[in-house]
Amino acid sequence: MIIVSACLLGLNTKYDGTSNAHALIRKYSSWEKFIPVCPEQLGGLPTPRVPVEIINGTGQVVLAGRCAVQGEQGEVVTPQFIQGAKEVLEIVRMFKVTAAILKERSPSCGVNHIYDGSFTHREKSGQGVTAALLREHHILVYSEEDLDEEKLLELLKS
Ligand code: SF4
Repeated sequence: MIIVSACLLGLNTKYDGTSNAHALIRKYSSWEKFIPVCPEQLGGLPTPRVPVEIINGTGQVVLAGRCAVQGEQGEVVTPQFIQGAKEVLEIVRMFKVTAAILKERSPSCGVNHIYDGSFTHREKSGQGVTAALLREHHILVYSEEDLDEEKLLELLKS
């Protein structure tokens, strides 16, 4: 089984109540290999919700307790982000998940890049909180931008 960011499958889990529907990923949803997850909802946050970024760090640094996830007005949601990541890890264990496909640039799901905490759409290298926790537990984590159809099919058949 493969964990997939729920918003990539077209579910309206984004902070603004919309999705990041991804045509290639949706094309293979009927293979019954995907488990949709939204760590921010699993952590107890509502939808819609305040947009947030990781301030002065990355997902790894959040997990180490050395920086926060917050909104532009200072709303701190670090506990919900950590809880959501733990819930996703629980799903991984329950369903013997072998890989994850997560939404690039999200403070939860970003795999190679996240926003830099300035709320100006600038990016930096690093992972979101859930992507970092899954990598710490040796789960293969891909962003939707890492996959073309050939790579996705390889993953689905493995
Ligand atoms: Fe999508 Fe992940 Fe954000 Fe949920 S937390 S809306 S799954 S990018």
